[in-house]
Amino acid sequence: DIVYLNGDWVTGNNAKVSVFDRGFLFADGVYEVIPVYQRRPFLPELHIQRLQRSADAIGIAPITTEFWHQLVLDLINRNNLDDGLVYIQLTFGADSQRSHLPTQPLTPTIYASLSPLSVHWNTPKPVKVAVLEDIRWHRCDIKSISLLGNIMLKREAAKRGAIEPLLHRDGRITEGASCNYFMVKQGRLYTPPADHLILAGITRTWVIQLAQQLAIEVHEEALNVNELQHVDEVFLTSSSREVQPVGQIDDIIVGNGQCGTITAQIAEAFHASKRHLIQE
Ligand code: PMP
Repeated sequence: DIVYLNGDWVTGNNAKVSVFDRGFLFADGVYEVIPVYQRRPFLPELHIQRLQRSADAIGIAPITTEFWHQLVLDLINRNNLDDGLVYIQLTFGADSQRSHLPTQPLTPTIYASLSPLSVHWNTPKPVKVAVLEDIRWHRCDIKSISLLGNIMLKREAAKRGAIEPLLHRDGRITEGASCNYFMVKQGRLYTPPADHLILAGITRTWVIQLAQQLAIEVHEEALNVNELQHVDEVFLTSSSREVQPVGQIDDIIVGNGQCGTITAQIAEAFHASKRHLIQE
């Protein structure tokens, strides 16, 4: 595995970052994950745009779009992987000491790697999720490398035999620890709005477009946890899980516990868009 670190291409084991890096000391950085199918990045423009937005939100000086596109292509060319996930991490950089405010102008640290991805060509079996209170901060729209809240919630969900938490604030559903949620109620699709309480997933954006092309009504509107008993279908989305049906929420069986018809329709459209990219 050949990774990129500050202009160098080295094996992962040989990539070294300073202990004074603000990413290490303060999680002062942002990241991005881009799926690669058969050596082609999926929706790279949307991912790079989100990375720029995250960097801008925390005050890291802009880096050109061309740089990021080339970095993704170089990672694919230097690694012998057909399907993968590009990981890009951008931190404020390494200072000469630990100080909450930087003591001097810093050069951002840029790290990028490509790791294996098992692509779903058939819709996966429904999974269980667990309702938990969202304990994270109020800027979940920034793809921050500070994932402590997400990880604590993911661990709690795992303890309950669930693959993801289904988070809420005062009953209002937000997202998962590393995914977005969609719910089907009376033939309409609901997903929480892309405000500061969720990360606007690229898969989420893509699924909304696919649903609209399928003439499925989409409402960017957060449901309440007490409405979960009455939803017909639930699925979650992320770059690594794609479209994942949810069959159980705590002790509630969703629909009949199987993948719902609208979920299946959207998942099929998603697989088709991947096939389309590969055949381009
Ligand atoms: N929400 C959170 C908190 C996430 O970490 C992720 C993915 N890492 C998502 C949503 C899904 O985003 P995407 O579809 O761009 O992978």
